[in-house]
Amino acid sequence: MHAPTPSVEPQTAQTDRDHGGFAGHPRGLSMLYYAEMWERFSYYGMRALLLLFMIAPLTMGGLGFDQKFAAQIYGNYTMASYMVCILGGYLADNFLGARRAVLIGGLIITAGHYCLAFASIPTFYAGLILIALGTGLLKPSISTLVGGLYSPEDTRRDAGFSLFYMGINLGAFAAPLVVGWLAQSDQFKTLLTGWGFDPLHSWHWGFAAAGVGMTIGMGVYLRRLHWLAHIGQAPATGTPRPWDRLALVAIGTAALLGVMIASDYFPWINPLVYALPIVGVIYFGVLKKDPDSHRIAAILVFFICAIIFWAVFEQAGSSLTLFADELTRNETFGYAFPSSWFQSVNSLFVIALAPLFAWLWVRLRERQPSIPMKFFWGLVFLGLSFALLVPAAQLTAAGKVSPWWLVGVYFLQTIGELCLSPVGLSAMSKLAPAKLAGLVMGIWFLGSALGNKLAGVLAGSFDAKDPLALANFFWNQALLVGGMSLLLLILVPWVRRLTGEQATTD
Ligand code: GLN
Repeated sequence: MHAPTPSVEPQTAQTDRDHGGFAGHPRGLSMLYYAEMWERFSYYGMRALLLLFMIAPLTMGGLGFDQKFAAQIYGNYTMASYMVCILGGYLADNFLGARRAVLIGGLIITAGHYCLAFASIPTFYAGLILIALGTGLLKPSISTLVGGLYSPEDTRRDAGFSLFYMGINLGAFAAPLVVGWLAQSDQFKTLLTGWGFDPLHSWHWGFAAAGVGMTIGMGVYLRRLHWLAHIGQAPATGTPRPWDRLALVAIGTAALLGVMIASDYFPWINPLVYALPIVGVIYFGVLKKDPDSHRIAAILVFFICAIIFWAVFEQAGSSLTLFADELTRNETFGYAFPSSWFQSVNSLFVIALAPLFAWLWVRLRERQPSIPMKFFWGLVFLGLSFALLVPAAQLTAAGKVSPWWLVGVYFLQTIGELCLSPVGLSAMSKLAPAKLAGLVMGIWFLGSALGNKLAGVLAGSFDAKDPLALANFFWNQALLVGGMSLLLLILVPWVRRLTGEQATTD
């Protein structure tokens, strides 16, 4: 089926009559799905190596960095790659258009991965900077392109984002296995020696593989670009380009990044930063009366929920990994496995459950829960996952616990994630005025950036040695998330009104 001719609204597709793609979705979805799958393959593949590569001694081909310094670089790099999305989104809205932003961002990311393929300090830092900048350009834009496939009334939107999210996790699941095997396995090192290459450079083969993944992603994107019909075009020629505001956004993003990096040394900065969006909700939601301001208030409510959600969820790489490593019996059915395998459990559950959620949202159509209600469930399941860790932590007093505790934790977290994360992307693409689509998506990812940072702060008080303190550690966070979900539940009718939906019962 061919997409209809371009409408007057450059960022919004009229592809709601296009059912020619996977499971009755527009054809453009599958192309964005595969492009993002490969982009995430490169992102997570490289991320799986990054910390290990930095702390590996020089004699093992690593950089020999001190662990604390390496953890700081890692934390700030992941935060930066999500924070730059604000700038990337703004550039896409006002200068490039989303489809070109994805292309240019993709090329920058590819260049970054290939930089890391060389064994030198300057190429290492250049690679990190390029990947963070490119991700900032690509990530919000590819998500707004997905949103652009559906009109605001199209009930397939959340389902489409659930499927898109499955692509993200296919990439995230496969990458550490492939890239990790290249970088760390003895088999590949033996192969390298046989080919006459230095086996100490295996890390760089891993980074190069991430680059190859990204190159494939860009190939898919370019080949199928015409499936996007007219969505994501640059603003019409002749439209004045707001260079002065671009400079302001760039300076603002750099300043926020600086402030958040400084918060490692001045912790009092944190509450100030996290209080700002609350002030924003009151200003736009209560003091202002126009529909646009109300939608901004709703976006900020979702943004605050996202910060809390990611702050707890992203401890998968810290608190939960330590729990897996030090307090869990890593064997099942008589088979022992490395604790790092738990990192893949979440992606596996997403791959298994995302189609179910996509089916459910389409099936329920107009009867599906509202956006704030889905966020409520997202927080509830996340809170339950940490509550489940309380008895597990208590049991560690008697020795290591069964791995099924963590499997249960990740199962609950994934249900929460599927209620909140793809729905958040979908909500941003729906609530944002067309001209601000990229910027608003950037705000959503800023929630991820701040959440990741807060996750690092929270994980700082993880103590594997004291079961009681550990149980409290998990319980306090379950309470925080539970409290937040209750507050949101009370606010659901109000937030529905802010989003422009009728406040009927959910
Ligand atoms: N795992 C998802 C992704 O990589 C969501 C990440 C996030 O927003 N924190 O896209």
